[in-house]
Amino acid sequence: MADETTPVAVPPAPTPAAKPAPAKAPEKAKVVAPAYRDYPTIPALKIDSMAESNPYVAAAAHNESVGFPGTLVDGWEQKAVAKMGELLGKYRSLRVYMDACVHCGACTDKCHYFIGTGDPKNMPVARQDLMRSVYRRYYTLPGKLFPKLVGARDMTRDVLDDWFRYYNQCSECRRCSVFCPYGIDTAEVTMAAKEIMHSVGLGHKYVNEIIGKVHKIGNNLGLPGPALENTLEGLEEDVLEETGAAVKYPLDVKGAEVLLVTPSADFFAEPHVDSLIGYGKVFHAAGISWTLSSKASEAGNFGMFIGNYEQMQKIAMRVREAALELGVKRIVVGECGHAWRVAYAFWNTLTGIGAGANDPFAIQLQKQLDPNYKQPSHICEVTWDLIQAGRLKFNKEANDHRIVTFHDSCNVARGSRMGDYAGGQFDIPRNIIRAVANHYVDMSEATTREKTFCCGGGGGLLTDELLDLRVKGALPRMEALNEIVQHNGVNFMATICAICKAQFTKVLPYYGFKMSMVGGVHQLVSTAIVLKSEQ
Ligand code: SF4
Ligand code: SF4
Repeated sequence: MADETTPVAVPPAPTPAAKPAPAKAPEKAKVVAPAYRDYPTIPALKIDSMAESNPYVAAAAHNESVGFPGTLVDGWEQKAVAKMGELLGKYRSLRVYMDACVHCGACTDKCHYFIGTGDPKNMPVARQDLMRSVYRRYYTLPGKLFPKLVGARDMTRDVLDDWFRYYNQCSECRRCSVFCPYGIDTAEVTMAAKEIMHSVGLGHKYVNEIIGKVHKIGNNLGLPGPALENTLEGLEEDVLEETGAAVKYPLDVKGAEVLLVTPSADFFAEPHVDSLIGYGKVFHAAGISWTLSSKASEAGNFGMFIGNYEQMQKIAMRVREAALELGVKRIVVGECGHAWRVAYAFWNTLTGIGAGANDPFAIQLQKQLDPNYKQPSHICEVTWDLIQAGRLKFNKEANDHRIVTFHDSCNVARGSRMGDYAGGQFDIPRNIIRAVANHYVDMSEATTREKTFCCGGGGGLLTDELLDLRVKGALPRMEALNEIVQHNGVNFMATICAICKAQFTKVLPYYGFKMSMVGGVHQLVSTAIVLKSEQ
């Protein structure tokens, strides 16, 4: 029970000898895909089987470049406990999550990382307990008086190491929360733990490097403006050659109606670029003027993964600035799961795209944007509205070589909506696919829509040193895919997330599938859309 807000005295600060070793690359992990289960049973426990999964610690330069302490600060124990107190005060939900768990076990087998690894610390309740045990010690009376009796632990180096290891084995997918009778959201606990760790100087290299690139260059991939321009010109030439239509992929066009903000992977990675080609064809066919922005050349927002509001806001502000500079009437987000969650759930208050902020620039933007459209909109909402209005024509047979399924991305499925009703985020992408392809099969109900399994690479874990974890975490999705491959001949899995696309491209071969099996919804749109030749 949380009855105190003042923490008890924390352990003494470590001696210099106890300070952490500088960041060093762990041994390359052996990557092993687990065997498909005959029946999806609860896995046998493999205690500490993922204890060697060590994410790379961010170097001082990477931490400092995004405003965190370079290395673990002196007195980090007290500071981490104090930060926890700050978050408990700021986020009422976090305190409820710390107190409400009754250890009923309903969530234990719902996490893809537990299913794939068998490591009991990957059970959602155990992951929460890594923080809950510290919370109890410093913020509850029983924990202060009888720590051993209530499973309360001091904030020690061992505890911190376990946090770093196992909170970096959570993709913040929220699947476990769907099954918890109290709605406890482990993803929020993970985000809080990551925020605490970053605040005391223990950052994750991959995530901080990416955030640094966004601030310095403008996007996650570090693609500078001129390279972006070249890529887009190349796309225009390719599409003209392929279709005979002069489809434009415009950059920084003032006065365009739509600003499209999309993950930077769309600009050059396969299969992502095929969806970008599709967005351009949709706007072209519907006669909508649009532009991309070199300032907001990234929809992704890794600030969310580390639970850091300031970073999330700083990254999101680029979109507002670009929208104001270009004078657009609509803001549309491309195929990226967590970007859409940030846009849908947070842009409103972070930036005033919507009515959640009232600083002068927010008010200016609110006046500038067209109130006849949802601000922001998802590209799937745009395309589906145009299809319903009869403004797009398709040759569905062009997709006849594909038997398609759809993977619901976690952040879209459980962190956002589309359209104007609950569940629109599940129906709209499927409606589009059915409008552009003749052959569609859903995966098992237990693995789709709100119960979808994470691809295994979300939450800032899409990095090579975690490949073994990513491959193992993909097991439940691969099992569901395999079932419809065997029974229905499915050969294409569409998704609307850049991370899912990158993750599946990498892990599909470990399960005997071709990496080309994954692609975007707008890749299918691109294949089937009929364009008036303008050559
Ligand atoms: S389902 Fe909820 S209450 Fe039950 S153990 Fe998991 S987190 Fe705790
Ligand atoms: S949020 Fe997702 S990855 Fe994290 S514990 Fe829950 S099911 Fe596992």
